[in-house]
Amino acid sequence: MRYEAPASLDAATRLLADAGGAARVLAGGTDLLIQMRADLVEPTVLVDVKNIAEMREIAEEGGRFRLGAAVTGMEIMEHEGFNAAWPGIVDGAKLIGSIQIRGGATRGGNLCNASPAADSVPALIAADAIARIIGPDGRRAAPVEDIATAPGRTSLAAGEIVVSFDLPEREPRSGDAYLRFTPRTEMDIAVVGVGVNLALDEAGMCVAARVALGAVAERALLVDEAAAALIGTRVDDAALAALSAAASAACRPIDDKRGTKEFRIEVAGVLAERAARIALERAEQG
Ligand SMILES: Cc1cc2nc3c(=O)[nH]c(=O)nc-3n(C[C@H](O)[C@H](O)[C@H](O)COP(=O)(O)OP(=O)(O)OC[C@H]3O[C@@H](n4cnc5c(N)ncnc54)[C@H](O)[C@@H]3O)c2cc1C
Repeated sequence: MRYEAPASLDAATRLLADAGGAARVLAGGTDLLIQMRADLVEPTVLVDVKNIAEMREIAEEGGRFRLGAAVTGMEIMEHEGFNAAWPGIVDGAKLIGSIQIRGGATRGGNLCNASPAADSVPALIAADAIARIIGPDGRRAAPVEDIATAPGRTSLAAGEIVVSFDLPEREPRSGDAYLRFTPRTEMDIAVVGVGVNLALDEAGMCVAARVALGAVAERALLVDEAAAALIGTRVDDAALAALSAAASAACRPIDDKRGTKEFRIEVAGVLAERAARIALERAEQG
């Protein structure tokens, strides 16, 4: 096996194309190295993307953030401007693994590993983040909700790299939040994860919302019906009850040792309401 650490996207794309599907992108390695050790994947070339400047920065222009796909959880947590604008995305970063894991694990890796329980993904979907992708056929963009398709599977073509995530301009009076339920307080996989992002007008009416659920289907789900329960309301108890019911109704979970289907469906409704209350509080402060 060969290890390469190119400093440019061009070089990385060429390395991946030349290896013809037998190469893997390496970011933090907190999923990939474990899978290699277990012989689940056997790449002939590892293309480490952590030296590629465009993938390693958090940039802001005109109120819009571009989050590099190889930025680590710790780097996100330490970025003041990003924390102020997108605290829900930071909630997801804070929950991943331990300090050591957060020091290496990236948003791109969390998304492209394609676990339905990935903690970064619901808040990115709720934020309406767009993934910027480069590959053998050039550059393209895709909503984050279209990247993971099933456990361990993505819509990326062979040799494609997620470069960064574009976030929309943050309006005043908007807020987001991510919550997950795990049987243990940390170092465990989400049984349910919920990201909520909403915006209020000056009168306190909800004018925009997006709600995403993790760990309750084969991939993270954008739930339009749950968002519709909030839009046009003051996010009052009736709206939150409707949101909760819509979130539960959207779940199509599995049973496993962490939770039954029925439990996941119920918890999704409860967490959606709690996450919406936090997003509302943040929007009111914003
Ligand atoms: C002890 C431990 C605790 C953990 N806890 C959590 C947790 O609480 N929540 C959670 O969600 N996850 C958790 N994880 C899983 C893991 O840390 C995350 O999924 C992490 O974000 C993966 O990112 P990475 O940069 O390490 O990815 P890597 O392991 O480098 O890559 C993962 C996959 O994505 C591909 N890839 C990486 N970057 C890109 C890119 N830019 N473009 C295209 N493909 C790419 C790789 O080829 C590989 O297939 C934990 C892991 C460990 C070991």
